[in-house]
Amino acid sequence: MTRILQIGPLSERFNQALATEYQVTALWLQADPQAFLREQGEQFEVVATSARFGLSTEQMALLPKLKAVCSFGVGYDSIAVDQARDRGIPVSTTPDVLTDCVADLAMGMLIDVSRRIAESDRFVRSGKWEQAGFPLAMRVSGMRLGIVGLGSIGQAIARRAGGFDMPVRYHSRRPVADSAYTHEADLQELARWADFLVVACPGGDATRNLVNAPVLEALGPKGYLINIARGSVVDEPALINALQQHQIAGAALDVFAKEPNVPQALRDMNNVLLLPHVGSATVQTRQQMEDLLTANIKAFIESGKLLTPL
Ligand code: NAP
Repeated sequence: MTRILQIGPLSERFNQALATEYQVTALWLQADPQAFLREQGEQFEVVATSARFGLSTEQMALLPKLKAVCSFGVGYDSIAVDQARDRGIPVSTTPDVLTDCVADLAMGMLIDVSRRIAESDRFVRSGKWEQAGFPLAMRVSGMRLGIVGLGSIGQAIARRAGGFDMPVRYHSRRPVADSAYTHEADLQELARWADFLVVACPGGDATRNLVNAPVLEALGPKGYLINIARGSVVDEPALINALQQHQIAGAALDVFAKEPNVPQALRDMNNVLLLPHVGSATVQTRQQMEDLLTANIKAFIESGKLLTPL
């Protein structure tokens, strides 16, 4: 029987269902996970993990019989994909099923930070409304939206922005074939044009600090940054500096450089919306992601093929 190594917990329902159907070992329940892998790593052929728990180079090296990695989420920057490719080990994620919810949240964050929704909620709760009116906010409809990464999520955000009559341009390494939106090869130029810059590209070394001080400066004092991608894509100290110096108008962040640690400087700023990495976190989508993870594991064990490989 195929032995599965589960790196971290998902929902109780998922953990139990997987353990009922297959021979599963929970790595996070081992007293010393690294020592456990050194001693028993050779028995596992399939790894079940998530974008959050990943599978490091060190862990993968301790799994000599590994045949497939099945992950929950679409981000794979936490998984040693280069090593997997070199060893001919296929990796699956859970694409498409989470696209709509992440795009919904990105639009929600954009509207929140510009119309100051969370900030005005704090204003009412604190009793300040009784002393003064709330300051004016920034319009959303008709404003310019720049998207970094016009993949599944970026395109879903662009479609939603159409409902707000927002002109859309995007930056990626290659223009998307047949796209109605203008491609901007230079990210700084996109930031200069945009009122809102939404980051929706993968994390990892290739995009590390892609949104840096010059990009933020180009976004300008009336521009907002929205990040639903990965904390690593934005140079966090440069972002804090740009906010403190009022080089940009505000930011809405679902992801951070060192989650769950959020720098105090960001927490102290009223024009920054902070979310605990909840892009796909709805009951319906998380269920579909777990179902797709299970389907990938089942398909690999039964046919040797993953349903949604990278
Ligand atoms: P996708 O369909 O693979 O699209 C990725 C896009 O990023 C493509 O347009 C790609 O175009 C672009 N890109 C890749 N490398 C780039 C680079 N170096 N510079 C500029 N653009 C680059 O991925 P997706 O499904 O839309 O997901 C995007 C990311 O969102 C995921 O990788 C994940 O990290 C993040 N995410 C976050 C949450 C959350 O909870 N906040 C949830 C789901 C996903 P080119 O290849 O042409 O450059």
